[in-house]
Amino acid sequence: MNDGLKHLIRLQETDEQIARLTQSIAALPRRLAELETKLQAQKELVERTAKSIRDEEAARRRLESDLKDQQQKIAKYRDQASSVKTNEQFHALQHEIDFAQAEIRRIEDVELASMERSEQLEVERAAAQKELQSQQAFIEKEKDAARAASAEQEASLAGFKAERGEHRALIEADLLARYDRIAASRGTGVARVQGQRCLACQMFLRPQVWNQIRSGELLTCESCSRLLYWDPSLEPPPPEPAVDEKKSKKKKKEPTAVEEAEA
Ligand SMILES: [Zn+2]
Repeated sequence: MNDGLKHLIRLQETDEQIARLTQSIAALPRRLAELETKLQAQKELVERTAKSIRDEEAARRRLESDLKDQQQKIAKYRDQASSVKTNEQFHALQHEIDFAQAEIRRIEDVELASMERSEQLEVERAAAQKELQSQQAFIEKEKDAARAASAEQEASLAGFKAERGEHRALIEADLLARYDRIAASRGTGVARVQGQRCLACQMFLRPQVWNQIRSGELLTCESCSRLLYWDPSLEPPPPEPAVDEKKSKKKKKEPTAVEEAEA
């Protein structure tokens, strides 16, 4: 294989590593941002639950004040009842007292329901708080891991970039320009051929092109335009001939094209 082609193949491999690392490095802050968003939503849940608890407490303070009002009314009516002149007046006051007592029972029921809601809210707040703490711990760990991974990937990226530079310097300008042009439009500039097929676009090569490629000529795929190469060490072993064919046609196995080329 010609040296320029060898460097091109390594260049493509380093280009692919660079693309993969660049993407991976860019994905880290996005992942951390997603975690932060989730954390923020959990903080809001804790805050909402706390507010509901405060609202219930405020409602119960109002109820307590209403309760006191009703108790004061009853005390006042009882006071008046001791000095009324007629049965009619007494019954009227008793009616007011009954009404206030019914109101007190109603307020107490409402208060009890509010306390039950508060208890439930306290349970929810504790669970939300616990979840928040576990998320905070998780995000801290993720940030540390991301920082470490990022540093590692940056170092690796710098290594591949240096290697890319070395390969580019060793490739003939014309060939490099061809590679760059194809890579820019196709994503990759070089494709391996295996079993007469371009592995990038899967098209079959014409027999003549296939032969030229195997003899080391630098050609492009007629279908996808990528620069083609053939690596006999990567070619799969030829399939075993069928048993009856072996018997009827060939006694001795003839060397395949691959073996001949290797010999
Ligand atoms: Zn192709």
